Amino acid sequence: MAEVLVYVDHVDGAVRKPTLELLTLARRIGEPVAVHLGAGADAAAAVLGEYGAVKVLAADASEFADYLVAPKVDALEAAYNAVSPAAVLLPSSAEGKEIAARLAVRIGSGIITDAVDLEAGAEGPVATQSVFAASYSTKSRVTKGTPVITVKPNSAAPEAAQAAGTVEQLAVSFGEKSTGTKVVSRTPRESTGRPELTEAAIVVSGGRGVNGAENFSIIEALADSLGAAVGASRAAVDAGWYPHTNQVGQTGKSVSPQLYIAAGISGAIQHRAGMQTSKTIVAINKDAEAPIFDLVDYGVVGDLFEVVPQLTDEVKTR
Ligand code: FAD
Repeated sequence: MAEVLVYVDHVDGAVRKPTLELLTLARRIGEPVAVHLGAGADAAAAVLGEYGAVKVLAADASEFADYLVAPKVDALEAAYNAVSPAAVLLPSSAEGKEIAARLAVRIGSGIITDAVDLEAGAEGPVATQSVFAASYSTKSRVTKGTPVITVKPNSAAPEAAQAAGTVEQLAVSFGEKSTGTKVVSRTPRESTGRPELTEAAIVVSGGRGVNGAENFSIIEALADSLGAAVGASRAAVDAGWYPHTNQVGQTGKSVSPQLYIAAGISGAIQHRAGMQTSKTIVAINKDAEAPIFDLVDYGVVGDLFEVVPQLTDEVKTR
């Protein structure tokens, strides 16, 4: 069976959920071979094997932390040369997309970004994308070289499938250009204790209807009762009520959770562009004619200041 390279997204060796989703999707098109860069590969190998990685190619070097993405591209290219895979899969994070693009150029391949599904095809893997503000779903495949594909978080539920997960060291040499941009400082963001917006299984977002920064506490309370991330419409962000890092939409982040709850959001096309691939959409809006109701699975016509606290209390009793 053909091997499929899966780039491992991890924080200090702790493998992040999008990687488990990639391993699950990779098994549809071949045998997953994980590429783990940085410290912690031996510890990560257990979980990578549990989700089907037959092998873990590992490389640890200070260059991965000290410079921007280029050293990681060198390593992935070395893995590509070692394995001759049927496809290379990466998460659709900012870093994942940059590595993917650079790798595709180096190996002379076509690239597909932001896939929301992946299946085997007679002439290579077929990726589903959601385009034009999610008005259309397209299926495409790479016709030149080895497909390099980035997949949005939450596109597949991780499914375990025990495999060997044997760690092999990968020899990487870094080109002069790869160390051209040095990281001079890192400032970790203060943790809210909530999941990362683009990876969260549940997102609760507030819009202009929330009517003030101080009122976002009711959105946060519902999010916390569900273990969810908090999102915001651009109107709420532009008003200074919530940080831009939490904006969902065309000029914000694109999310695809299992459950998206929109409170006080009208459903403008630019907002939909960032959330329409969510599996289940719930809206709370006092205007029954709000366009958001055209795309919801469940809609509540009501005042969010009444509905959201009641919903939070109800969730807490479960
Ligand atoms: P509104 O459209 O004002 O809607 C507020 C809603 O709240 C209304 O439906 C109202 O009925 C409801 N409401 C009010 N009070 C209550 C209450 N008490 N209880 C319940 N409901 C209530 N927007 C984004 O979100 N993300 C983007 O990334 C983005 N990018 C853009 C890029 C471009 C180039 C442009 C031109 C626009 C972009 N926008 C984006 C803006 C977008 O067009 C809308 O203006 C924005 O999404 C509106 O935000 P909203 O739904 O919160 O506000």
